[in-house]
Amino acid sequence: MSRSTPKVGFVSLGCPKALVDSERILTQLKTEGYQIVPTYNDADVVVVNTCGFIDAAEQESLDAIGEALRENGKVIVTGCLGAKAEKILDVHPNVLSVTGPQAYEAVMGAVHNVLPPKHDPFVDLVPPQGIKLTPKHYAYLKISEGCNHRCAFCIIPSMRGDLVSRPIGDVMTEAENLVKSGVKELLVISQDTSAYGVDTKYRTGFWNGRPLKTRMKELCEALGELGVWTRLHYVYPYPHVSDIVPMMAEGKILPYLDIPFQHGSPNVLKLMKRPAHAENTLARIKSWRDVCPDLVLRSTFIVGFPGETEDDFQILLDWLEEAQLDRVGCFKYSPVEGATANELPNPVAEEVKEERWQRFMEVAARISRDKLQAKVGRTLEVIIDEVDDEGAIGRSKADAPEIDGKVFVDSSDLKPGQIVEVFVHEADDYDLYAAPLGAE
Ligand code: SF4
Repeated sequence: MSRSTPKVGFVSLGCPKALVDSERILTQLKTEGYQIVPTYNDADVVVVNTCGFIDAAEQESLDAIGEALRENGKVIVTGCLGAKAEKILDVHPNVLSVTGPQAYEAVMGAVHNVLPPKHDPFVDLVPPQGIKLTPKHYAYLKISEGCNHRCAFCIIPSMRGDLVSRPIGDVMTEAENLVKSGVKELLVISQDTSAYGVDTKYRTGFWNGRPLKTRMKELCEALGELGVWTRLHYVYPYPHVSDIVPMMAEGKILPYLDIPFQHGSPNVLKLMKRPAHAENTLARIKSWRDVCPDLVLRSTFIVGFPGETEDDFQILLDWLEEAQLDRVGCFKYSPVEGATANELPNPVAEEVKEERWQRFMEVAARISRDKLQAKVGRTLEVIIDEVDDEGAIGRSKADAPEIDGKVFVDSSDLKPGQIVEVFVHEADDYDLYAAPLGAE
């Protein structure tokens, strides 16, 4: 008698990078004939993909493991927090196995031990583009793992190791398959997209028989040929980034750069050991906008880093006024266990952090408001994410999913994934309100 299909529950926590790891594990599970089930009750075993980037994420991951243990009992842990196995085992000694990030084979080995695959090559054929957790019309494209930098507040290199770039042929084949399956927007992610290929000395790879260097510029050119929106995340302001701005001006890739500047004061950037900390970023931003006036810049910042003086903070505010970034997130510095920043002198008092954060956010919100007001009366292209009885919610080329603003469109006749022209009639601090003009 044949055994029933083995069933796996899957809990995915954390950032878009962890999401890509989850998609790979799910693809492998499906390939081997496992069924992915949505409830603890139906699962024979549960895999939890954790996040350990900040302390709050650690706690969320530990809670998720606890819930899976209570509800199911058989739990395999992987992901960033898995790099700190003792932390997990202290709280949850009964988990079946713990592995770190990108440990696809180890996770599969752990699943095989608990639940051997049912040997049937015809079970659950997997589409060539794999399984995606993001909505069908956009997908994250991970181009590398790890990072060669050693920013003082970050423990990613100690968890994920040095930069390892994926071969450009593999990345392009994955991108092409995603587009064939209906994806309209590719979100390029990594720890440092501008460093793509540094580890392989920009080795030449092949895509559809054509030689291509493993380098950001060549990658962007090739992605630009796929005819979908391509959005770049986690880029640093190096000189060679100027090579891709003309492609943005020509409409080959989206005029959008997500650059985690983190600060505007050279003193603090140096203390943070940030990549490209000595670059004149304001001059560079200006030169990019000269080439591509519609360029949208999104960034994140940290206020209250150890050693940040009132002068440094004022430099940051002036920098922000001058840079006129479109989308900005800001965090109050909080120590992360294992980060070298913890040893720095002159910590900033909590109330000073709070006060600086408020001042920063006031400036950032005003800039965002002014920038969005300038869009009222303009026509924009919008990709639709959701539709219900009250209307549609989409994003313009200036908005990445989950982290940026939205465009609320007065129409329920649209479909997710559709790209439409809209007329913007209203704006608030972060979102736009628009009427549709026509569908693609
Ligand atoms: S660039 Fe800095 S913050 Fe980003 S992953 Fe590398 S070390 Fe961490």
